[in-house]
Amino acid sequence: MRRLSLLGATGSIGASTLDVVAQHPDRFTVAALAAHRNWQKLGELCRRYQPALAVLLDEDAGRALKRDIAVACPRTRVACGAAALSEAATLPDVDTVLAAIVGAAGLAPTLAAARAGKRILLANKEALVIGGALFMTAIEEGGATLLPIDSEHNAIFQCLPPRYARSPRAAGIRRILLTASGGPFRTRAPADLARVTPDEACAHPNWSMGRKISVDSATMMNKGLEVIEAHWLFGAPRDAIEVVIHPQSVIHSLVEYVDGSVLAQLGHPDMRTPIAQALAAPDRIDVGVPRLDFATLTALSFEAPDFARFPCLSLAYAALASGGSAPIALNAANEIVVGAFLAGHARFPDIATTCARTLERLPARAIGSLPDALDADGEARQMACELLALPADTVHSFSIAA
Ligand code: NAD
Ligand code: MG
Repeated sequence: MRRLSLLGATGSIGASTLDVVAQHPDRFTVAALAAHRNWQKLGELCRRYQPALAVLLDEDAGRALKRDIAVACPRTRVACGAAALSEAATLPDVDTVLAAIVGAAGLAPTLAAARAGKRILLANKEALVIGGALFMTAIEEGGATLLPIDSEHNAIFQCLPPRYARSPRAAGIRRILLTASGGPFRTRAPADLARVTPDEACAHPNWSMGRKISVDSATMMNKGLEVIEAHWLFGAPRDAIEVVIHPQSVIHSLVEYVDGSVLAQLGHPDMRTPIAQALAAPDRIDVGVPRLDFATLTALSFEAPDFARFPCLSLAYAALASGGSAPIALNAANEIVVGAFLAGHARFPDIATTCARTLERLPARAIGSLPDALDADGEARQMACELLALPADTVHSFSIAA
Protein backbone atom coordinates (compact mmCIF):
# COMPACT_ATOMS: atom_id res chain seq x y z
CA MET A 1 0.00 0.00 0.00
CA ARG A 2 1.48 3.37 -1.04
CA ARG A 3 0.64 6.34 1.19
CA LEU A 4 0.38 9.57 -0.78
CA SER A 5 0.63 13.24 -0.11
CA LEU A 6 -0.99 15.22 -2.91
CA LEU A 7 0.25 18.81 -3.24
CA GLY A 8 -2.05 20.73 -5.60
CA ALA A 9 -5.00 18.43 -4.86
CA THR A 10 -7.69 20.79 -6.22
CA GLY A 11 -6.10 21.23 -9.65
CA SER A 12 -6.19 19.35 -12.92
CA ILE A 13 -3.30 16.97 -12.08
CA GLY A 14 -4.80 16.58 -8.60
CA ALA A 15 -8.09 15.40 -10.16
CA SER A 16 -6.36 12.93 -12.51
CA THR A 17 -4.31 11.54 -9.63
CA LEU A 18 -7.34 11.08 -7.37
CA ASP A 19 -9.14 9.33 -10.22
CA VAL A 20 -6.26 6.82 -10.44
CA VAL A 21 -6.23 6.42 -6.63
CA ALA A 22 -10.01 5.90 -6.49
CA GLN A 23 -9.78 3.07 -9.04
CA HIS A 24 -7.13 1.23 -6.98
CA PRO A 25 -7.97 1.56 -3.28
CA ASP A 26 -6.11 -1.70 -2.68
CA ARG A 27 -2.83 -0.04 -3.76
CA PHE A 28 -3.04 3.63 -2.77
CA THR A 29 -4.25 5.62 0.19
CA VAL A 30 -4.28 9.40 0.67
CA ALA A 31 -2.54 10.67 3.80
CA ALA A 32 -2.40 14.40 2.99
CA LEU A 33 -4.12 16.81 0.62
CA ALA A 34 -2.85 20.37 0.04
CA ALA A 35 -3.92 23.34 -2.08
CA HIS A 36 -3.97 27.13 -2.25
CA ARG A 37 -7.35 28.46 -1.06
CA ASN A 38 -10.26 26.55 -2.58
CA TRP A 39 -11.65 25.23 0.72
CA GLN A 40 -14.95 24.09 -0.78
CA LYS A 41 -13.20 21.74 -3.20
CA LEU A 42 -10.67 20.58 -0.61
CA GLY A 43 -13.55 19.98 1.81
CA GLU A 44 -15.25 17.68 -0.73
CA LEU A 45 -11.99 15.78 -1.24
CA CYS A 46 -11.47 15.42 2.52
CA ARG A 47 -14.96 13.94 2.91
CA ARG A 48 -14.19 11.40 0.24
CA TYR A 49 -10.58 10.46 1.11
CA GLN A 50 -10.44 11.19 4.89
CA PRO A 51 -6.73 12.22 4.91
CA ALA A 52 -4.82 12.59 8.19
CA LEU A 53 -3.77 16.13 7.15
CA ALA A 54 -5.41 18.80 4.97
CA VAL A 55 -3.45 21.98 4.20
CA LEU A 56 -4.40 25.29 2.62
CA LEU A 57 -1.81 28.01 2.08
CA ASP A 58 -4.39 30.73 2.73
CA GLU A 59 -5.19 31.20 6.44
CA ASP A 60 -8.79 32.44 6.01
CA ALA A 61 -9.57 29.58 3.67
CA GLY A 62 -7.95 27.20 6.18
CA ARG A 63 -10.32 28.40 8.94
CA ALA A 64 -13.30 27.93 6.61
CA LEU A 65 -12.15 24.39 5.80
CA LYS A 66 -11.79 23.55 9.49
CA ARG A 67 -15.41 24.61 10.14
CA ASP A 68 -16.61 22.84 7.01
CA ILE A 69 -15.20 19.39 7.79
CA ALA A 70 -15.22 19.42 11.62
CA VAL A 71 -18.05 16.89 11.83
CA ALA A 72 -17.57 14.92 8.61
CA CYS A 73 -13.81 14.34 9.01
CA PRO A 74 -12.98 13.90 12.70
CA ARG A 75 -9.61 12.31 11.94
CA THR A 76 -8.41 15.09 9.58
CA ARG A 77 -6.16 17.77 11.04
CA VAL A 78 -6.35 21.09 9.16
CA ALA A 79 -3.25 23.30 8.94
CA CYS A 80 -2.42 26.48 6.98
CA GLY A 81 0.56 28.39 5.66
CA ALA A 82 3.81 27.63 3.89
CA ALA A 83 5.31 25.55 6.73
CA ALA A 84 2.22 23.31 6.70
CA LEU A 85 2.71 22.65 2.96
CA SER A 86 6.21 21.38 3.73
CA GLU A 87 4.83 19.34 6.63
CA ALA A 88 2.40 17.66 4.21
CA ALA A 89 5.37 16.86 1.95
CA THR A 90 7.38 15.23 4.73
CA LEU A 91 4.89 13.32 6.92
CA PRO A 92 6.83 10.31 8.28
CA ASP A 93 4.31 7.70 7.13
CA VAL A 94 4.03 9.12 3.59
CA ASP A 95 6.18 7.37 0.98
CA THR A 96 5.01 9.11 -2.21
CA VAL A 97 4.60 12.86 -2.78
CA LEU A 98 2.75 14.10 -5.81
CA ALA A 99 4.18 17.54 -6.62
CA ALA A 100 1.33 19.18 -8.55
CA ILE A 101 1.30 22.77 -7.28
CA VAL A 102 1.54 25.22 -10.17
CA GLY A 103 4.54 27.56 -10.39
CA ALA A 104 7.45 28.56 -8.16
CA ALA A 105 5.23 28.17 -5.08
CA GLY A 106 5.80 24.42 -5.33
CA LEU A 107 9.57 24.62 -4.91
CA ALA A 108 9.85 24.78 -1.09
CA PRO A 109 7.55 21.82 -0.26
CA THR A 110 9.01 19.72 -3.10
CA LEU A 111 12.55 20.42 -1.87
CA ALA A 112 11.42 19.43 1.62
CA ALA A 113 10.13 16.13 0.20
CA ALA A 114 13.48 15.62 -1.55
CA ARG A 115 15.42 16.20 1.66
CA ALA A 116 13.10 13.81 3.49
CA GLY A 117 13.94 11.05 0.97
CA LYS A 118 10.44 10.67 -0.47
CA ARG A 119 9.43 9.13 -3.77
CA ILE A 120 8.50 12.30 -5.68
CA LEU A 121 6.19 12.24 -8.69
CA LEU A 122 6.91 15.58 -10.34
CA ALA A 123 4.32 17.50 -12.36
CA ASN A 124 5.43 20.91 -11.05
CA LYS A 125 8.11 21.54 -13.71
CA GLU A 126 8.65 25.13 -12.51
CA ALA A 127 10.15 23.76 -9.26
CA LEU A 128 12.85 21.94 -11.22
CA VAL A 129 13.40 24.84 -13.65
CA ILE A 130 14.14 27.23 -10.80
CA GLY A 131 15.62 24.73 -8.35
CA GLY A 132 18.01 23.28 -10.96
CA ALA A 133 21.23 21.94 -9.46
CA LEU A 134 20.01 22.64 -5.89
CA PHE A 135 16.99 20.47 -6.49
CA MET A 136 18.96 17.59 -7.99
CA THR A 137 21.49 17.75 -5.12
CA ALA A 138 18.64 17.63 -2.58
CA ILE A 139 17.26 14.53 -4.32
CA GLU A 140 20.65 12.82 -4.18
CA GLU A 141 21.56 13.83 -0.64
CA GLY A 142 18.10 13.04 0.71
CA GLY A 143 18.10 9.60 -0.97
CA ALA A 144 14.86 10.58 -2.72
CA THR A 145 13.54 9.17 -6.00
CA LEU A 146 12.34 11.54 -8.71
CA LEU A 147 9.81 10.25 -11.23
CA PRO A 148 8.51 12.56 -13.96
CA ILE A 149 4.80 12.68 -14.71
CA ASP A 150 4.94 15.49 -17.23
CA SER A 151 3.79 13.39 -20.20
CA GLU A 152 6.88 14.03 -22.37
CA HIS A 153 9.35 13.33 -19.58
CA ASN A 154 7.44 10.28 -18.47
CA ALA A 155 7.59 9.06 -22.11
CA ILE A 156 11.37 9.65 -22.22
CA PHE A 157 11.77 7.93 -18.86
CA GLN A 158 9.97 4.89 -20.28
CA CYS A 159 12.28 4.88 -23.36
CA LEU A 160 15.54 5.03 -21.36
CA PRO A 161 17.55 1.93 -20.48
CA PRO A 162 17.03 0.45 -16.98
CA ARG A 163 19.27 2.05 -14.33
CA TYR A 164 19.94 5.07 -16.58
CA ALA A 165 22.40 7.29 -14.69
CA ARG A 166 21.82 10.79 -16.13
CA SER A 167 24.51 10.40 -18.79
CA PRO A 168 23.11 10.21 -22.34
CA ARG A 169 26.54 9.53 -23.83
CA ALA A 170 27.23 6.57 -21.55
CA ALA A 171 23.82 5.14 -22.49
CA GLY A 172 24.42 5.48 -26.24
CA ILE A 173 21.82 8.23 -26.64
CA ARG A 174 22.24 10.72 -29.46
CA ARG A 175 19.32 13.00 -28.68
CA ILE A 176 16.08 13.41 -26.83
CA LEU A 177 13.10 14.59 -28.87
CA LEU A 178 10.34 16.36 -26.98
CA THR A 179 7.08 16.42 -28.89
CA ALA A 180 4.85 19.50 -28.77
CA SER A 181 1.34 19.92 -30.11
CA GLY A 182 1.97 23.55 -31.06
CA GLY A 183 -1.04 24.59 -28.96
CA PRO A 184 -4.13 26.48 -30.08
CA PHE A 185 -2.23 29.13 -32.11
CA ARG A 186 0.01 26.88 -34.22
CA THR A 187 -1.52 28.12 -37.45
CA ARG A 188 -3.10 31.43 -36.31
CA ALA A 189 -1.95 34.55 -38.25
CA PRO A 190 0.68 36.25 -36.04
CA ALA A 191 -1.11 39.62 -36.45
CA ASP A 192 -4.22 38.15 -34.75
CA LEU A 193 -2.34 37.18 -31.62
CA ALA A 194 -2.52 40.70 -30.16
CA ARG A 195 -6.28 40.25 -29.81
CA VAL A 196 -6.61 36.70 -28.49
CA THR A 197 -8.47 36.26 -25.19
CA PRO A 198 -7.47 34.14 -22.17
CA ASP A 199 -10.25 31.67 -22.98
CA GLU A 200 -8.94 31.21 -26.54
CA ALA A 201 -5.40 30.75 -25.23
CA CYS A 202 -6.65 28.15 -22.73
CA ALA A 203 -8.56 26.13 -25.35
CA HIS A 204 -5.87 23.50 -25.94
CA PRO A 205 -6.62 21.22 -28.89
CA ASN A 206 -5.68 17.92 -27.17
CA TRP A 207 -5.24 18.33 -23.41
CA SER A 208 -7.47 19.68 -20.66
CA MET A 209 -5.22 21.41 -18.08
CA GLY A 210 -4.98 24.27 -15.58
CA ARG A 211 -5.05 27.81 -16.98
CA LYS A 212 -1.38 28.71 -16.45
CA ILE A 213 0.05 25.67 -18.24
CA SER A 214 -2.58 26.12 -20.97
CA VAL A 215 -1.31 29.66 -21.67
CA ASP A 216 2.26 28.32 -21.54
CA SER A 217 1.28 25.78 -24.19
CA ALA A 218 -0.14 28.54 -26.40
CA THR A 219 3.15 30.54 -26.19
CA MET A 220 5.23 27.32 -26.21
CA MET A 221 6.90 28.55 -23.02
CA ASN A 222 5.67 25.21 -21.70
CA LYS A 223 7.94 23.38 -24.14
CA GLY A 224 10.79 25.76 -23.26
CA LEU A 225 10.35 24.96 -19.55
CA GLU A 226 10.23 21.28 -20.51
CA VAL A 227 13.58 21.55 -22.33
CA ILE A 228 15.08 22.87 -19.08
CA GLU A 229 13.23 20.17 -17.11
CA ALA A 230 14.67 17.47 -19.42
CA HIS A 231 18.17 18.91 -19.00
CA TRP A 232 18.01 18.42 -15.21
CA LEU A 233 16.08 15.14 -15.16
CA PHE A 234 18.16 13.31 -17.75
CA GLY A 235 21.54 15.10 -17.50
CA ALA A 236 21.28 15.99 -21.19
CA PRO A 237 23.19 18.94 -22.65
CA ARG A 238 21.12 21.61 -24.41
CA ASP A 239 22.15 20.54 -27.89
CA ALA A 240 20.99 16.98 -27.25
CA ILE A 241 17.40 18.08 -26.53
CA GLU A 242 15.25 18.93 -29.53
CA VAL A 243 11.62 19.90 -29.96
CA VAL A 244 9.46 18.49 -32.73
CA ILE A 245 5.91 19.64 -33.45
CA HIS A 246 3.46 16.74 -33.52
CA PRO A 247 -0.07 18.19 -33.57
CA GLN A 248 -1.91 14.93 -32.74
CA SER A 249 -0.25 14.43 -29.29
CA VAL A 250 -0.15 10.66 -29.71
CA ILE A 251 3.64 10.23 -29.52
CA HIS A 252 4.57 11.74 -26.17
CA SER A 253 8.34 11.95 -26.83
CA LEU A 254 11.23 9.97 -28.33
CA VAL A 255 14.81 8.91 -27.58
CA GLU A 256 17.28 8.42 -30.45
CA TYR A 257 20.21 6.05 -29.88
CA VAL A 258 23.56 6.10 -31.71
CA ASP A 259 22.77 2.86 -33.56
CA GLY A 260 19.87 4.64 -35.29
CA SER A 261 17.09 3.19 -33.12
CA VAL A 262 14.43 5.67 -32.08
CA LEU A 263 12.23 4.61 -29.15
CA ALA A 264 8.93 6.35 -28.55
CA GLN A 265 6.04 6.11 -26.10
CA LEU A 266 2.54 6.46 -27.54
CA GLY A 267 -0.87 6.76 -25.98
CA HIS A 268 -4.18 8.53 -25.86
CA PRO A 269 -3.50 12.06 -24.49
CA ASP A 270 -4.65 11.49 -20.91
CA MET A 271 -2.53 12.40 -17.87
CA ARG A 272 -3.80 9.33 -16.02
CA THR A 273 -1.35 7.23 -18.10
CA PRO A 274 1.91 8.86 -16.89
CA ILE A 275 0.46 9.22 -13.37
CA ALA A 276 -0.49 5.53 -13.27
CA GLN A 277 2.90 4.49 -14.69
CA ALA A 278 4.80 6.39 -12.02
CA LEU A 279 2.42 5.57 -9.14
CA ALA A 280 2.37 1.83 -9.77
CA ALA A 281 5.92 1.27 -11.14
CA PRO A 282 7.22 -1.34 -11.69
CA ASP A 283 3.67 -2.71 -12.02
CA ARG A 284 1.21 -1.59 -14.71
CA ILE A 285 -2.40 -0.82 -13.81
CA ASP A 286 -5.55 -0.24 -15.85
CA VAL A 287 -6.97 3.24 -15.15
CA GLY A 288 -9.61 3.37 -17.87
CA VAL A 289 -7.60 5.35 -20.46
CA PRO A 290 -9.12 4.84 -23.93
CA ARG A 291 -7.02 2.58 -26.16
CA LEU A 292 -5.32 3.83 -29.30
CA ASP A 293 -7.12 2.49 -32.33
CA PHE A 294 -4.49 2.01 -35.03
CA ALA A 295 -7.15 1.31 -37.66
CA THR A 296 -8.39 4.89 -37.39
CA LEU A 297 -5.08 6.62 -36.54
CA THR A 298 -4.49 7.51 -40.15
CA ALA A 299 -1.93 10.31 -39.91
CA LEU A 300 0.77 11.21 -37.44
CA SER A 301 2.56 14.33 -38.64
CA PHE A 302 5.69 16.17 -37.61
CA GLU A 303 7.26 19.55 -38.34
CA ALA A 304 10.10 21.71 -37.02
CA PRO A 305 9.07 24.38 -34.48
CA ASP A 306 8.74 27.93 -35.76
CA PHE A 307 11.04 29.90 -33.42
CA ALA A 308 9.90 33.23 -34.90
CA ARG A 309 6.24 32.53 -34.12
CA PHE A 310 7.12 31.12 -30.68
CA PRO A 311 9.94 33.32 -29.27
CA CYS A 312 9.42 31.86 -25.77
CA LEU A 313 10.97 28.61 -26.96
CA SER A 314 14.19 30.43 -28.00
CA LEU A 315 14.19 32.33 -24.71
CA ALA A 316 14.17 29.08 -22.76
CA TYR A 317 17.09 27.62 -24.76
CA ALA A 318 18.97 30.93 -24.23
CA ALA A 319 18.22 30.93 -20.48
CA LEU A 320 19.48 27.35 -20.21
CA ALA A 321 22.68 28.37 -22.03
CA SER A 322 23.21 31.35 -19.69
CA GLY A 323 22.51 29.19 -16.61
CA GLY A 324 22.59 30.51 -13.02
CA SER A 325 19.71 32.91 -12.38
CA ALA A 326 18.52 33.09 -16.02
CA PRO A 327 15.99 30.20 -15.94
CA ILE A 328 14.69 31.52 -12.58
CA ALA A 329 14.18 35.01 -14.05
CA LEU A 330 12.51 33.61 -17.15
CA ASN A 331 10.09 31.54 -15.09
CA ALA A 332 9.30 34.40 -12.68
CA ALA A 333 8.67 36.94 -15.45
CA ASN A 334 6.47 34.40 -17.22
CA GLU A 335 4.40 33.75 -14.08
CA ILE A 336 3.79 37.50 -13.63
CA VAL A 337 2.88 38.24 -17.23
CA VAL A 338 0.73 35.11 -17.62
CA GLY A 339 -1.11 36.11 -14.42
CA ALA A 340 -1.58 39.62 -15.84
CA PHE A 341 -2.78 38.21 -19.19
CA LEU A 342 -5.29 35.90 -17.47
CA ALA A 343 -6.56 38.89 -15.44
CA GLY A 344 -6.98 41.04 -18.57
CA HIS A 345 -4.03 43.37 -17.82
CA ALA A 346 -1.65 42.30 -20.59
CA ARG A 347 -1.96 41.17 -24.18
CA PHE A 348 -0.81 37.79 -25.44
CA PRO A 349 2.32 39.11 -27.26
CA ASP A 350 3.37 40.91 -24.03
CA ILE A 351 4.19 37.49 -22.61
CA ALA A 352 7.23 36.94 -24.85
CA THR A 353 8.36 40.59 -24.84
CA THR A 354 8.18 40.90 -21.04
CA CYS A 355 10.15 37.69 -20.58
CA ALA A 356 12.79 38.77 -23.12
CA ARG A 357 13.21 42.23 -21.58
CA THR A 358 13.43 40.82 -18.05
CA LEU A 359 16.28 38.54 -19.18
CA GLU A 360 18.02 41.45 -20.92
CA ARG A 361 17.82 43.70 -17.87
CA LEU A 362 18.88 41.09 -15.31
CA PRO A 363 22.16 39.54 -16.41
CA ALA A 364 22.60 35.94 -15.28
CA ARG A 365 24.47 35.41 -12.03
CA ALA A 366 25.54 32.30 -10.11
CA ILE A 367 23.04 30.69 -7.73
CA GLY A 368 24.54 28.88 -4.75
CA SER A 369 21.63 28.46 -2.35
CA LEU A 370 17.86 28.50 -2.01
CA PRO A 371 17.86 32.12 -0.69
CA ASP A 372 19.87 33.13 -3.82
CA ALA A 373 17.26 31.45 -6.01
CA LEU A 374 14.37 33.13 -4.16
CA ASP A 375 16.11 36.54 -4.45
CA ALA A 376 16.51 36.10 -8.21
CA ASP A 377 12.84 35.06 -8.43
CA GLY A 378 11.67 38.14 -6.48
CA GLU A 379 13.85 40.52 -8.46
CA ALA A 380 12.53 39.21 -11.80
CA ARG A 381 8.91 39.47 -10.58
CA GLN A 382 9.51 43.15 -9.67
CA MET A 383 11.17 43.78 -13.04
CA ALA A 384 8.32 42.17 -14.97
CA CYS A 385 5.80 44.33 -13.07
CA GLU A 386 7.82 47.45 -13.91
CA LEU A 387 7.99 46.49 -17.58
CA LEU A 388 4.24 45.98 -17.65
CA ALA A 389 3.74 49.27 -15.78
CA LEU A 390 1.93 47.37 -13.00
CA PRO A 391 2.36 48.80 -9.48
CA ALA A 392 4.98 46.82 -7.50
CA ASP A 393 2.34 45.71 -4.97
CA THR A 394 0.59 43.77 -7.75
CA VAL A 395 3.45 41.24 -7.72
CA HIS A 396 1.20 39.06 -5.56
CA SER A 397 -2.22 40.04 -6.85
CA PHE A 398 -2.09 38.62 -10.38
CA SER A 399 -1.99 35.06 -9.31
CA ILE A 400 -1.57 32.07 -11.58
CA ALA A 401 -3.06 29.96 -8.77
CA ALA A 402 -6.59 28.65 -9.19
P1 NAD B 1 -4.07 23.86 -11.75
O1 NAD B 1 -4.06 25.33 -11.83
O2 NAD B 1 -5.23 23.09 -12.27
O3 NAD B 1 -3.86 23.41 -10.23
C1 NAD B 1 -2.85 23.98 -9.44
C2 NAD B 1 -2.91 23.45 -8.03
O4 NAD B 1 -1.87 24.09 -7.27
C3 NAD B 1 -4.24 23.77 -7.31
O5 NAD B 1 -4.56 22.71 -6.44
C4 NAD B 1 -3.89 25.01 -6.49
O6 NAD B 1 -4.69 25.16 -5.32
C5 NAD B 1 -2.46 24.70 -6.11
N1 NAD B 1 -1.67 25.90 -5.81
C6 NAD B 1 -1.45 26.97 -6.60
N2 NAD B 1 -0.68 27.88 -5.98
C7 NAD B 1 -0.42 27.37 -4.76
C8 NAD B 1 0.32 27.83 -3.65
N3 NAD B 1 0.94 29.02 -3.65
N4 NAD B 1 0.41 27.03 -2.55
C9 NAD B 1 -0.23 25.83 -2.53
N5 NAD B 1 -0.94 25.34 -3.56
C10 NAD B 1 -1.02 26.10 -4.65
O7 NAD B 1 -2.71 23.36 -12.45
P2 NAD B 1 -2.40 21.95 -13.15
O8 NAD B 1 -2.78 22.02 -14.58
O9 NAD B 1 -2.91 20.83 -12.30
O10 NAD B 1 -0.81 21.95 -13.12
C11 NAD B 1 -0.08 21.72 -11.93
C12 NAD B 1 1.40 21.55 -12.29
O11 NAD B 1 1.54 20.39 -13.10
C13 NAD B 1 1.99 22.71 -13.09
O12 NAD B 1 3.30 22.91 -12.71
C14 NAD B 1 1.93 22.20 -14.53
O13 NAD B 1 2.93 22.76 -15.33
C15 NAD B 1 2.17 20.72 -14.33
N6 NAD B 1 1.61 19.87 -15.40
C16 NAD B 1 0.27 19.86 -15.62
C17 NAD B 1 -0.26 19.07 -16.64
C18 NAD B 1 -1.75 18.99 -16.87
O14 NAD B 1 -2.18 18.20 -17.70
N7 NAD B 1 -2.58 19.74 -16.18
C19 NAD B 1 0.60 18.31 -17.44
C20 NAD B 1 1.96 18.34 -17.18
C21 NAD B 1 2.47 19.12 -16.15
MG1 MG C 1 4.20 18.28 -20.81
